[in-house]
Amino acid sequence: MSGGKSWNGEAFWGVGFEYDPQWLLTEEQQRLQARLIELSATAMRANAEESDKGFVFPRKNFELLAKEGLLGLIVPKSLGGRGESHACAAMVVETIARYGCASTAMCYVMHLSATAALLLHHHRNPKLQDLLRRLDKEVLVGTLSISDPATGSHVWFLLSSSAEREGDGYRLHKKASWTTSGGYADWYVAQTTSPDFKGNYANFSIWLLLADEVKARKGSWNGVGLRGNQSGPMEIDGVVVPPDRLIGPAGDGAGSNDEATDPYFMLGTAACWNGVSMGAIDIVKRHTTRKTHADVGLKVADYPSIQDYVGNALAETNASRALTYQIAQAMDRVTNNNDWSIHEDIAARPRTTLVQWSWQVKYVAAKNVVAVTNDMMSAGGGTAYKPELGLERYWRDGRAGWLMAPTNEVLRLLLGKSALLGFEELDFWNQRANQRLLRSELKKLNPEERKALAEELLAPSA
Ligand SMILES: Cc1cc2nc3c(=O)[nH]c(=O)nc-3n(C[C@H](O)[C@H](O)[C@H](O)COP(=O)(O)OP(=O)(O)OC[C@H]3O[C@@H](n4cnc5c(N)ncnc54)[C@H](O)[C@@H]3O)c2cc1C
Repeated sequence: MSGGKSWNGEAFWGVGFEYDPQWLLTEEQQRLQARLIELSATAMRANAEESDKGFVFPRKNFELLAKEGLLGLIVPKSLGGRGESHACAAMVVETIARYGCASTAMCYVMHLSATAALLLHHHRNPKLQDLLRRLDKEVLVGTLSISDPATGSHVWFLLSSSAEREGDGYRLHKKASWTTSGGYADWYVAQTTSPDFKGNYANFSIWLLLADEVKARKGSWNGVGLRGNQSGPMEIDGVVVPPDRLIGPAGDGAGSNDEATDPYFMLGTAACWNGVSMGAIDIVKRHTTRKTHADVGLKVADYPSIQDYVGNALAETNASRALTYQIAQAMDRVTNNNDWSIHEDIAARPRTTLVQWSWQVKYVAAKNVVAVTNDMMSAGGGTAYKPELGLERYWRDGRAGWLMAPTNEVLRLLLGKSALLGFEELDFWNQRANQRLLRSELKKLNPEERKALAEELLAPSA
């Protein structure tokens, strides 16, 4: 049973709509979902294989998405976009990852997250409005450039960057260790310390840069999975930009991340991993229902162990999807269905109240995709190990979820620490000493060591 889902004019070979939360979608969103499945069947899935084999950036898939108006999915209708909701964005990403191409889905998540950063502050900035209007017409793909080579997963800590006043504009420097779509995107949302930076790394700002203003090592990406992603290093090497490239007020970096970039990144990546999980289950259904063992005359799908794998994978993945969509709907509720006009009041930060929920959404989906794709590889037997089945790509692509910042180790700590000790204890920018830890360590020093430490601390050079 495919529950009415079709693939190239025939019944879909994977899991049908009866295991999809269709009731969450409006009729228009269901039509969009069906169109994306059709595009996947006719082009995007084949393009995914090409991307995977040759580390090819999925520009062809972005051209298809732009024709459907999907680069402006969350852009208000008044600016020529589709004016869609968080829940719809989650559905679109999940559908692309499941039926089409996970690399495209992840590059698209970065595009949506970068678009959200522009939307938060576009009201007073004609440059941003102009770009938002042209996204689909000119296939203008955006991305985020954050990760700093010096601080690894602590992507909020921008050690290798600076911004200085230069005439009317600003001179920017930044080194980024990873940038999805790096060298292939048309525009970049990049973060640096603020122009008035005086040592407080919580004070950072967000900038719009265009393709010819960044140095990216095009084609240098070499990853286990998501091979179309081109997440290579990037540099902004003293580029001078006009004042309208500052997105929002100087110093609003952390606030903008909490309100725009991170909610879309967390929801989007979770939707991507949920799609990869469902896509792996689809392939196992196709394979195990078609293959029989001649000696016993049974399909592989007849074995209880395979049914058990698939039953567990479906239930766990749908738990993750339910959480993702629930938090997407919570964001829709607090933003009047993703109405960006509420941000004309710069103090309006409703998504920020849900930040701990976004963390959980990403954590659960990224944890689940590792377990599910691993089980699906087992359910597929030795054949799953061969690229022809198409399953091992989902396994490799899904592995990135856990590692992408905030990594699942970091998320667990953020959640546990904030729940136990309060959000103020999170101390992202190393500003609060843990006095309990400090005193506990000091207790271990003998009198001579204490004296030496005291002298060191009191020395003028300290
Ligand atoms: C496919 C892919 C695409 C990416 N795309 C982008 C992108 O578009 N833009 C971007 O900015 N970045 C991107 N990244 C980078 C990503 O977001 C992380 O910054 C990066 O994966 C961190 O790698 P690292 O080797 O520096 O990890 P490290 O920071 O060295 O981490 C090593 C280990 O230490 C753990 N760890 C680190 N800090 C802590 C802590 N405080 N507490 C407990 N454990 C900790 C980690 O969880 C991990 O297990 C991408 C990564 C991948 C894999």
